[in-house]
Formats: sequence, C-alpha cells, structure tokens
Amino acid sequence: MEITWMGNEHTNSSSREGYVPFVIVNHISAGTMSSMDAWFRSPDNRVSSAHFGISKAGEIHQYVDIKRMAWAQGIPKEQIPNAEAEVVRKMGVNPNLYCVSIEHEGMVGELTPEQFNASVKLHRYIQDQIYEIWQKEFSLTPYYVIGHYQINPTGKPYCPGRRFPWERLYAALEKVDRLKEAEQMEELQRQVEELRRHMNELAAENQRLGERIQSLETLHNQPEIPTWAADAVQAAVEGQLVLNPENGSLDFYRILTVLHRKGLI
Ligand SMILES: [Zn+2]
Repeated sequence: MEITWMGNEHTNSSSREGYVPFVIVNHISAGTMSSMDAWFRSPDNRVSSAHFGISKAGEIHQYVDIKRMAWAQGIPKEQIPNAEAEVVRKMGVNPNLYCVSIEHEGMVGELTPEQFNASVKLHRYIQDQIYEIWQKEFSLTPYYVIGHYQINPTGKPYCPGRRFPWERLYAALEKVDRLKEAEQMEELQRQVEELRRHMNELAAENQRLGERIQSLETLHNQPEIPTWAADAVQAAVEGQLVLNPENGSLDFYRILTVLHRKGLI
C-alpha cells in the first residue's frame, strides 16, 4: 500500500496531549482530491486538517502524522453528550485527541471500488501502526470505526455521506482485522496441537499393535522343534510326509503328534 506524504508547514496539527488514538473516523471531503490537497496545505487554512485522504482512484495521501492530532472532528465540550457514538460520550474530551481521520474524495459517500479497497487497507494499516507505536489494540468494529456524523450529528449529519457503504465496509474490515487474525491463528494453533496429540496416540497404538503381532508370531512359529513333538516329526520326515520340519507353528507340531499317536505316520 502506497501512501504519499502531503503535509507541509501550513498543515494544521497539534499534540495528542498523551492520548493514544484508538478510534478511526470516516469523512467525505465534499470536493476533489486536489482541492483537499490544496486546502490542507494552504497558509489560509487555520481551521481544519485530516490524517489521510483517499482519492476516487484509490491513491492515499497523508497530511498529519498519526502521533499528532489532526483537526478533523473537534466539537465543543458541551456538545459531547449529544454524540451518537458511545465511545465519544465515554471519553468526554475533544475527539481529535484520540481519533485518526480518513477523508474520502467525493460528495455523497459513494466510493469507487479502488477507493473502497484502499480505505479497507488503510483502516488495517492504521490499526497496525497504532499497535506498533503504542502497543494499543482495538478492533475494526462499529464501536471503534465511526463516521463524523456520529460525533457531530447536528453540524455534520452528512459526513461521510448518505451513500457511504457502512455495511460493506464493516464486513470487509472484519476480514482484515488484526485481532480477528490473531484469534484465527490461536484457533489454528490449537487445532495443530490437537492433531499432533492424535498422531502421537496413533503412533503409540501402532507400536503396541506391532509388538502384539510380533509376540503372536513368536508364539506360533517355534524356533525349535518342541521335544514333545520330536518323535512325530522324525516319523513324518522318515515317511517323507514333511521335508522341512523346522520353524513350524504350534498347530503344525500338534497335528503331527496327533497323527503319530493315532499310528497314521
Ligand atoms: Zn467530516
């Protein structure tokens, strides 16, 4: 994923004042990417900025380092209780302090396929960056991934746009969420462990069966002619009934002995 750095000395940003970001806010730029680039780099702009912008072609521009806060979704303290997003009401401070902002080029929130894919990747990238920098974990779920309107429902009711594909976005984010990935890895490891245990059990069972077969073989194939069968064997050999009397089974020697006793050999 390619990110082009676009911030300059005029781009607005300030300290996070010790807050670690863990909420991603989606916006609509209500204009073109080039007008957004120009505005976020303009010396006349003393009011706004964002961390990232995504063009309709799927290009990603970055204006503010995520270690700093961008001026994207600030609200006066008295408006915080009106926020729709639970996390915003709970935090109770300027949302810019703990949010990372993504602008999308467009007017109503209809994202192109390229823009949508870039946005999904960027969400995961932000999640990874926050873990790398602060070891902070959060999931890419509706609690932590919100729209500007959920922070400022009266001032920004249409940001990121009525057509913004929330359902599709959350479904796609679920597939790339690093926490989901970690869960799946754990589950996979558990299954591998179970399989390994099962294989060890099978190997042990195999060994037991092998030993049993060997003991059965030695039981039946006598290495020497039993003494109680010696006369019968001799008679059988003399009568040319048997050519190789060694290594016979117990049954073989028993039959010869019975035949001999009956006087048949
Ligand atoms: Zn917005």
